[in-house]
Amino acid sequence: MPIRFIRDFEFRYETPEMVAPAITRVVARNPKDYTWIGTNTWIVGDDRLAIIDPGPAQSEHVEAVLEAIAGRPVVGIFITHSHNDHAPAALPLAKATGATIFGHSPLDPMIADLTDEDIDLSVVPDCRLGDRARLEIEEGLLIEAVHTPGHFPNHLCYLLHDLRRSHEGGVSRRMLFSGDHVMGWATTVIAPPLGNLEHYLDSLLRLQRLPVTRYLPSHGPEIPDGPDYVRQLIAHRRFRESQIVECLERGVRDPAEMVARMYEGLSPRLEKAAALSVQAHLDFLAARGLLTREGVPTLSARRIAESWPYNELESSSGGR
Ligand SMILES: [Zn+2]
Repeated sequence: MPIRFIRDFEFRYETPEMVAPAITRVVARNPKDYTWIGTNTWIVGDDRLAIIDPGPAQSEHVEAVLEAIAGRPVVGIFITHSHNDHAPAALPLAKATGATIFGHSPLDPMIADLTDEDIDLSVVPDCRLGDRARLEIEEGLLIEAVHTPGHFPNHLCYLLHDLRRSHEGGVSRRMLFSGDHVMGWATTVIAPPLGNLEHYLDSLLRLQRLPVTRYLPSHGPEIPDGPDYVRQLIAHRRFRESQIVECLERGVRDPAEMVARMYEGLSPRLEKAAALSVQAHLDFLAARGLLTREGVPTLSARRIAESWPYNELESSSGGR
């Protein structure tokens, strides 16, 4: 059963648009293969505000976000994760508003060095949020952090509790800012070593247990029935795993060759991401003891060997 993607999206770049009471969106003009149309930055609150997913540090984008803020106090800037299309505008926005930057944890530069993903190491949260930490933005409006690793180790979704507005038969309004973890336009990229499929699937299950149906992702339109969509995402990964197992049973071992067999009409620009996704599935099979492998992944192994700092010491040790 294919995923029913949600791609009807009306928007204007670098223009504040109120999409629901107390929720304004600004779409950054940073369209790429992995950002689709661009990054959604969310401004939440009435009199005191939170900025969720500040986005890229493009001056037109930062100015549009400041326009949406309109001089109101900003309590916090909330980072979903350290990818370059999400975190960098936190710095100019914090400078302009004096707001505190919140996030899960900074990424270890040594770990970041193992990948060529676009990562922003310059934004370090002033205040780290543990899983399920809650913060009151203004009276009756709370933001709760939900740690959702898988796409990225320090990824947080943010659950909004709006006790001032009722929704669905008197229950207070809840919405989930789902970051890159769950997006309606495409499945998220899981690229090892920072991406981890087992963590991703666990994080999807966590969302399903939350009392919220409306998801507002970092790219593209709202997902009105998040839990149903998450079910489709999980089923899709299961389907991919069955394809990979079939490849292995037929003697196909190379992720690039698996991609050629598994994906129909894939753009050449996305082949690398697809191969990394296959790698994530192989890691997950291995983690469950269903697959044994000889050796280690070659890319990381080579880079680790190249960065070994003791070659000089070894060669000058006189054979000891
Ligand atoms: Zn990302």
